[in-house]
Amino acid sequence: MAEFNRASLEELLKKRFFFAPSFSAYGGVAGLYDYGPPGCALQANILDLWRKHFVLEEDMLEVDCTIMTPHDVLETSGHVEKFTDWMVRDSQSGEIFRADHLIENVLETRLEGDKKAKSTDTLSATASKNNTKTKKGGAVPVLLDSATKAEYEEILAKIDNYTGPELGEIIKKHNIKNPETGGDLTDPVEFNLMFESSIGPTGSLKGYLRPETAQGQFLNFKKLLEFNNDKMPFASASIGRSFRNEISPRSGLLRVREFVMAEIEHFVDPLSKDHPRFDEVKDIKLRLLDSSIQSEGKTEPKELTIGKAVEEKIVDNQTLGYFLARIQLFLTKLGINPQRLRFRQHMSNEMAHYACDCWDAEIQSSYGWIECVGCADRSAFDLTVHSNRTGEKLVVRESLPEPRVYEKTVLDINKRIFGPRFRQNAKTLESYLLGLSEAELEKLKSDIESNGGKATVNLPNGNSYEVGSDFLTIGRQTFTEHVREYIPNVIEPSFGIGRILYSLIEHVYWTREGDEQRAVLSFPPRVAPFKCLLVPLSNNAAFAPLVRDISSRLRKLNIPIKVDDSSNSIGRRYSRNDELGTPFAITIDFQSTNDGTVTLRERDSTKQIREPVDVILDIVKELVEENTTWKNVMEKYTTFVRQELD
Ligand code: AMP
Repeated sequence: MAEFNRASLEELLKKRFFFAPSFSAYGGVAGLYDYGPPGCALQANILDLWRKHFVLEEDMLEVDCTIMTPHDVLETSGHVEKFTDWMVRDSQSGEIFRADHLIENVLETRLEGDKKAKSTDTLSATASKNNTKTKKGGAVPVLLDSATKAEYEEILAKIDNYTGPELGEIIKKHNIKNPETGGDLTDPVEFNLMFESSIGPTGSLKGYLRPETAQGQFLNFKKLLEFNNDKMPFASASIGRSFRNEISPRSGLLRVREFVMAEIEHFVDPLSKDHPRFDEVKDIKLRLLDSSIQSEGKTEPKELTIGKAVEEKIVDNQTLGYFLARIQLFLTKLGINPQRLRFRQHMSNEMAHYACDCWDAEIQSSYGWIECVGCADRSAFDLTVHSNRTGEKLVVRESLPEPRVYEKTVLDINKRIFGPRFRQNAKTLESYLLGLSEAELEKLKSDIESNGGKATVNLPNGNSYEVGSDFLTIGRQTFTEHVREYIPNVIEPSFGIGRILYSLIEHVYWTREGDEQRAVLSFPPRVAPFKCLLVPLSNNAAFAPLVRDISSRLRKLNIPIKVDDSSNSIGRRYSRNDELGTPFAITIDFQSTNDGTVTLRERDSTKQIREPVDVILDIVKELVEENTTWKNVMEKYTTFVRQELD
């Protein structure tokens, strides 16, 4: 098969209007794209499969929340302070780069240059490890010594784990410059990725376009729990647009400023993160690049079953493991090549401070390994912070099967004596005493007892007070609890639909042997934008009634079709639809008007069969619904030979 050529694919995507830069008549805006008809249909089919695979399969509760989000919500969630990337500026030209991406680009280019130098033996006399220039033709061949090479490889393996100042150090140490101009770079500074706005005419209510759909789901937790009859665990799900003001979007659909996300928030009891359906997935093998492999500076994942990965605590818990396996099943069902899919664990710095484990499903494309789905265990962070800020309890209350009887050391204060004695200090002292742990209370009790009924307490503010048994009683009490109250933990699989869509296109793209002009997108039938092409042999009026009849019958079967009755040759029309990824084509010819038979062509093999219309329509329906395969059809019916002429 011919080597992948991104320029040819981009040309095809433009020609067939899968997607295109928005507002191009005005010069376009980096990171904004419009989808054309095949792009829209493809996205709708991916989302349809997502809903079936996750929402319907797991009885998830779908919500659709607003994009515009008030400042307070995102301040509480930590986005106002922390949703940032590090950027550097070329001090001369002012050009801006995302610091980690620039380092990655430059070091990868130098490593490529080293490979080139070795393979071509064109050892530059001025070989310098500081060479940064990315020429249009690729890396400049310059040999690197083995220590430098190892250092570069280690930095690349850990690139997501560096803080801003560390990125600055790397830039200085490795003499990284603007690759195009050689200009010096400033120290990295933080840039918040949220688009700010204001709600209403006064401008006093600050808001943001949401950077993820999650917060809306958390803030509806109470209603959703009630909707679910207070049953746990359960998941909510949401599909919608999110916005991130990316520093310098340069990789097509993979890094955009407005994109569709599909997110799940699975709420689970922190004491039991086992999943009832884990057994169904435990034998599925995943390629796992855990944090220990990365911190050794390596990038080769290990393949093991998710059952083993959870057992060995490589993946923290069953629910997280369950979702990783389900994500893999979803992506491969779409047509993602499993050999170009891996799960990378976040390293400690990279992981949000509240998360206890986080894995990204990364898909390999010509842009490298790119995170397409994030899957994090966010612990109880979100519900806790929103609860603390608003005072609304976001908890689960569970009746205990048996009441829980337990003893506890507690403190009782006789306010009638306490208040007048400590006057203006009473409140501070009281809250200090009520905040003491059981062990601290026991200690205070024994101090009072051994000291003739009095003891001194030292507050963190430096003040000391004498307390005594005349107004404090410390003792064991028995409690009976009928209800357990807890804040659930959240496991969050978060899908970037545009990234998946583009990666999928690269994975299913190929060109026919010996003819690079004839490109094919081999989408599985269920995700293909159009399922069936209907072509009359020519635009002869005799074919019109059959075309009308078959197309209306296909529409009744809910099969998206495309009729191509243009005057192009049959071969040209097939090719055009191969580029759209249309898996099947029904052709009407003169024989059809005589005996009611038509031919059915399959996109990848270009093989055809000829059968009566009724039979063909049944076959198409079964193929489109993926109840059968073309291989099965070929075994049952005889191949029909027609020459495909251009
Ligand atoms: P995150 O919340 O950063 O883990 O992002 C969740 C998912 O959103 C990622 O796995 C990506 O698929 C997608 N995503 C994030 N940023 C972008 C972007 N700038 N362009 C396209 N997709 C994105």
